[in-house]
Amino acid sequence: MRILIIEDEDKTVSFLKKGLTESGYIVDASMNGDEGLLLALDIDYDLIILDVMLPGRDGWSILSTLRQMGKEMPVLFLTARDMVQDRVKGLELGADDYLIKPFAFSELLARVRLLLRRTPQRHHDTLQIADLEIEFARQKAVRGGNRLDLTSKEFALLSLLMRRSGEVLSRTLIAEQIWDINFDSDTNVIDVAIRRLRGKIDDPFEKKLIHTVRGVGYVFEDR
Ligand code: CA
Repeated sequence: MRILIIEDEDKTVSFLKKGLTESGYIVDASMNGDEGLLLALDIDYDLIILDVMLPGRDGWSILSTLRQMGKEMPVLFLTARDMVQDRVKGLELGADDYLIKPFAFSELLARVRLLLRRTPQRHHDTLQIADLEIEFARQKAVRGGNRLDLTSKEFALLSLLMRRSGEVLSRTLIAEQIWDINFDSDTNVIDVAIRRLRGKIDDPFEKKLIHTVRGVGYVFEDR
């Protein structure tokens, strides 16, 4: 079992690394959000222990990117703040559990074991809506038996729309989730990206799956 720790506090990292290694796990650690995300995308970890406040990229952004890219490994959030909002946000984004700092190692180990035991049931490797199916791990999309040739951004956009099918997603939300940017003015980027995606997944087919909600954004729905 291989675990990745993304945490920028020296002491916490060495304490976790030592304890988990002694408990028989293979442990990697990263102290930077951007680097941590790259590692998590690159290597198939069985579990990730993730701090919220990090240099580079914060824990929220790491988690939402992982889930968009179809990475379903359990994520245990470490949070310094005992705030309901933080916990709710983490769970909404797809975290499996959280631990409030400071915590005892025995507590962490118990949560880690529990999460690892739960993993086999959590395989959401594919998602199908109407005749469109996506396979997250292989970044593969097929509609009506035809393999769709998507760029990785297009795949991420399609994954987001499909995971949240039926929900109207604003341009701002899409921008934050896929491009990791905050913007007010240049929503054109999103419209262009949606148009390209439609060209591949909707235009060749009679039934349309991406719908425009005027003045709000877009929704993926089998109507
Ligand atoms: Ca931190």
